[in-house]
Amino acid sequence: AKSEGRGNFQFFSQAMNAATHERVMMENRLWQALGENQFELYLQPQVSLGSGDVVGAEALLRWHHPELGMVTPSRVIPIAEESNLIFALGDWVLVRATEVLAEWRRDGMQTLRLAVNLSARQCQGRELLPRLDQLIARAGIDPALLELEITESTAMRDPEATRGLLRELRERGIHVAIDDFGTGYSSLSYLKLFAIDRIKIDRGFVTDIETDANDAAIVTATVSLAHSLGLTVVAEGVETAYQSSFLRSRGCDEAQGYLFARPMPAAEFRSFMQAARAR
Ligand code: C2E
Ligand code: CA
Ligand code: CA
Ligand code: CA
Repeated sequence: AKSEGRGNFQFFSQAMNAATHERVMMENRLWQALGENQFELYLQPQVSLGSGDVVGAEALLRWHHPELGMVTPSRVIPIAEESNLIFALGDWVLVRATEVLAEWRRDGMQTLRLAVNLSARQCQGRELLPRLDQLIARAGIDPALLELEITESTAMRDPEATRGLLRELRERGIHVAIDDFGTGYSSLSYLKLFAIDRIKIDRGFVTDIETDANDAAIVTATVSLAHSLGLTVVAEGVETAYQSSFLRSRGCDEAQGYLFARPMPAAEFRSFMQAARAR
């Protein structure tokens, strides 16, 4: 029995080593990818449900690996978050996002807003605010066109610190959206404590709007709650015309999802906008 126990332990520890090894390998590849410029920001349009116009976009990270092909952020971000890679990668995203805003401005799309996802550890770091100041000045862009998306769980990790950060961002005119709204374990009372501009209704509530009366009720209540607090609302994961018209009828301000467009490279986004303008 004793040797069997040791055998199990060895098996367990080998499996653990394999997992650790896999993670370390992935982390090394990601550092290399940063050096070799294998990342790209895809842009997904955000549409005003009132006018039908594209009023902004969300920046979504993509990794083009020479052998693995395109890797989605759900495989990249968790690994990056376990090491200091998240700071380097998060910084790359901010640099690229401010460049995109400067490109839009040159191309006559100077009113489009760009939303960028922030990870929890980026929000805790002390470098974020001075770095944003520097990047905004360098790109010569209007800070009000930059929106930072912070998930509900990131915001609630340290509500006092979040409150301070959001106040600083507001002073600079940078917009803040609460991402994945409704998925975290949190009280609604924080909404009035935080200096936020909008909330994003999680795709999980949008998908079954047509068939699930509870989801429909939650979405309706969320829109009216947000509006009564002076916040605007964006719904994510909108895939059908029914979902879009339901959201519009409830007064939801904007929507984002495959119904309108999938995330795309910046050059494709420019053509998309030109085609939209020509219509
Ligand atoms: P998220 O912030 O909730 O982003 C929305 C996700 O939904 C994106 O997945 C987007 O491609 C996808 N999506 C958009 N419309 C639809 C739709 O109509 N149907 C469906 N089924 N999906 C839709 P993506 O690009 O794979 O990103 C996944 C997550 O990775 C993001 O979720 C975000 O949490 C994280 N992420 C992406 N880019 C970054 C980044 O630059 N920094 C950080 N920290 N996180 C990022
Ligand atoms: Ca997001
Ligand atoms: Ca989201
Ligand atoms: Ca989500």
